Amino acid sequence: MNPSPGIKITWLGHSTFKIVSARGKTVVIDPWLANNPACPPEMKTLQGLDLMLLTHGHFDHIEDAVSLAKALKPKVVANFEICQYLESEGVAGTCPMNKGGTQEVEGIRVTMVSASHTSSIRSGDRILTAGKRSVLSSNSRMASGSTRRETPQSSET
Ligand SMILES: [Zn+2]
Repeated sequence: MNPSPGIKITWLGHSTFKIVSARGKTVVIDPWLANNPACPPEMKTLQGLDLMLLTHGHFDHIEDAVSLAKALKPKVVANFEICQYLESEGVAGTCPMNKGGTQEVEGIRVTMVSASHTSSIRSGDRILTAGKRSVLSSNSRMASGSTRRETPQSSET
C-alpha cells in the first residue's frame, strides 16, 4: 500500500506514530514513549519534532507531550482544553482547535472531527476534564487514537 508518496510512517506502539512528511516535517501523534511497553527502546527518545498532534487527554496518548514540547518546541495541535493544560505546564506554541475546525500548521492541514470517547488529564492526584475526544485528520489521513495490538513497524512510502 502506498498511502502518500514520500511520507514515512513509524508506529511506536499503542496510538503513537512518528510521521515524516514529504517535505521533511517530523510529526508525532499521541506521544506515549517512555512508559509505553510497546514502544521500541531505540524509539523512546525523539530528536527533532516540528508538529505534535494530540487526539485526547488520556495518559496513554499525552504522557510525554509536556516534556517533548518543552525539549523540542514543536507546534502542538489539540483541543482547546488540552492546549490550556499544556500552557499551564509551560508549553509554548500550542494551536488549539475544536471539532469541525481545520488549520494549517507547519504546512500540514489538520481537521478535527468527532469521535465517541472521553477525554481527561491526570495531573498529580487530580483528574481534569479535557474536552471530548477528537480525531485529527491531516490531508485525508486520520489519526483516531485507537488502540492497536500489533508489533511496531515503520512504512517507507
Ligand atoms: Zn482514551
